[in-house]
Amino acid sequence: MINFADYQTDEVLLINPPLIFKEGFRRPSVSIPLGFLYVATSLKKYTDKKVVLRDYIGHSKVKLDDRKNLGNVSEQDHYIGLSYNEIKKDLSDITIPKVVGISCSFLSHSFETIQTLVNIIKEISPQSKIILGGCGLIEEMHTLFNGVDVYFFGEGEERLPHLLNGQFVDGIRDSAGHSPVDGQTPPYLKGDILTKHSVLDYSLVDIEKYVYLNEQGAHSRFSRTPRSVSFITTRGCPYTCNYCMIHTVHGRSWRLYSTESIFQNLEALKNKYGVEHIHIEDDQFALKVPRFLEIIKKIQDLGMTWDPSNGLYVQHLKEEDINLMAKYGASTIKIAPETGSQRVIDDIIKGKPITIKKMRDIAKWSYNAGLFVTGFLIIGFPQETEEDIKLTLDFAKDLTEKYNVRWTVSIARPFPGTDLRDYCEKNDLLTDASVIEVLGATNLYNIKHKTFTLEYLQSVAKEIESTWIDAGALTEGASLVEL
Ligand code: SF4
Repeated sequence: MINFADYQTDEVLLINPPLIFKEGFRRPSVSIPLGFLYVATSLKKYTDKKVVLRDYIGHSKVKLDDRKNLGNVSEQDHYIGLSYNEIKKDLSDITIPKVVGISCSFLSHSFETIQTLVNIIKEISPQSKIILGGCGLIEEMHTLFNGVDVYFFGEGEERLPHLLNGQFVDGIRDSAGHSPVDGQTPPYLKGDILTKHSVLDYSLVDIEKYVYLNEQGAHSRFSRTPRSVSFITTRGCPYTCNYCMIHTVHGRSWRLYSTESIFQNLEALKNKYGVEHIHIEDDQFALKVPRFLEIIKKIQDLGMTWDPSNGLYVQHLKEEDINLMAKYGASTIKIAPETGSQRVIDDIIKGKPITIKKMRDIAKWSYNAGLFVTGFLIIGFPQETEEDIKLTLDFAKDLTEKYNVRWTVSIARPFPGTDLRDYCEKNDLLTDASVIEVLGATNLYNIKHKTFTLEYLQSVAKEIESTWIDAGALTEGASLVEL
């Protein structure tokens, strides 16, 4: 069990690990590490701890294609970060403090690098305690790593300082997966506490390093400029889609940063760091329409552009809202119907109240307003039928032909903590793929379906995606899409 006194310290080392993008992943994509930055900002601002930061993503000299002397990965994989030898030398040159925090935002891309970092730290400083935290943590973490002392679930801005004071903290697990308080969910930041931790100190990360990586091609977003960063204006999502694991990170509530703090962050990015493009990572950016429009207008007023990372919830938007989006500088819109079958939305995905009819309207209004429309589809749910797939094919092709919608088609994946995984477990439909494979491999089908095969689903995905490419409709925006 965890002895909280072991974590009382005046100094902490926070590490952001390198990332590996395996062969088969479309292309590497990185941006400033937001989770690492939020926690580092709060520790610096509100505690008197000495905080030593090491962001091992990126490298000032190595080009993405130059994999020599980097991590122990194959010629086909992209490794983004300092090599293990460089990291070992760097950590040998400092005195590693009593407590080290490692950030895990993308488990499938950092699984190997985190374990290697843990080994290096334990070799140099066996007495140091290692805390692994971040939005990439899943229930099974303790079965995946050796040498990690604490798995820190949930948000760290308020609770990590408590742990570093040797105080009891809930929502954490020891190396064997035991929790000091079984089943207790960590509290999420909201209201005044969220506001307290909302303004970031961007000087704690090297934005120019990320601009360099973007120039090297490690940014697959819609930005026309490498001077582009990730940004959040909200945390969480109130919906309950069967395949989505966001609630395991942010709970079920939708929490909003104040527009004042958002504007402060935007102004700093523009005026101090010359950032030109904002990549919004919110799971739900547009739920409150006036607030959404106020923020994108501010981005435009600052002379920057923006795009959303995730599909916007658009069921409530009117044509005039779409026109205002275009007026306030939006060039793209991402929609997420996930299917062309209303039955799949209502009976399988369940938690997202949308209609196929409204998705058609949004695509039409957006096209008419000059926005480039992209959309997300998922095929291969265990309860899905060939008839559902046919509806999705027809829907997708129709919207591509009429409104030049460019689709990204995913094969259903039973992520940990989701209703989809529960359903598969209950009905003995899971293959023996590891949880890392389920999280990271986009070219596998990890569900035993009575008729669908990986080859069939891949052929459907290819048919939908190639419709857009065959349309020969490369617009300026489209040419920047990840292919
Ligand atoms: S709407 Fe999006 S973020 Fe919300 S539960 Fe569904 S997939 Fe997840």
